[in-house]
Amino acid sequence: MRTLLADHPLVAHKLTLLRDERSDTATFRSLADELVTLLAYEATREVQVTEVTVTTPVGTAAGTKLAQPAPLIVPVLRAGIGMLDGMTRLLPMASVGFVGMVRDEESLVASTYANRLPSDLTGRDTFVLDPMLATGGTLVTVIGLLADRGAASVTAICLLAAPEGLARVEEAYPGDGPPSVRVVTGAVDERLNDKGYIVPGLGDAGDRLFGEI
Ligand code: URA
Repeated sequence: MRTLLADHPLVAHKLTLLRDERSDTATFRSLADELVTLLAYEATREVQVTEVTVTTPVGTAAGTKLAQPAPLIVPVLRAGIGMLDGMTRLLPMASVGFVGMVRDEESLVASTYANRLPSDLTGRDTFVLDPMLATGGTLVTVIGLLADRGAASVTAICLLAAPEGLARVEEAYPGDGPPSVRVVTGAVDERLNDKGYIVPGLGDAGDRLFGEI
């Protein structure tokens, strides 16, 4: 597993506003959307491409297109939905699958309640959207679902990560793959608290995006 910290002043600026408890739902949503687009730029750096030739009005140019089959984007329900628009804006040709995970607040163990993924992902690049990499339990489960279907690569895009979550994914996927596993994040915070929240973090990402349920 490799970790890429998107160390960029624009990312840091938007993350700071995102963390601020005074940012309301509308502000939080648009910041999450903008941040995912910035992180996606880094996350797609190794996406598979095909060499092509195009005819311009004045000649022939060697070019590059994204390879087929197109990448698969997997937002993890519920909070990952808040990152989907920002990602599909950059990859409009991508397919989208869904995984729903819910965390038991006592044990902090995540279980799967929805799984809408293609049965065969042989050779495909996949991008998992989950704003918070906390314990890592959810991400390890989702990577497992994609690996079982033959994905060539899994890149998780997380707005924030905890050291404990990164360590757990590294423990589960220590090698180069397949699938090759990468986490792209805007910041690595201090730690998890005893409720499994990232400290200082930004609170409950799902609640801040969609309101408390
Ligand atoms: N999920 C969240 O929404 N926030 C955290 O801090 C950890 C997990």
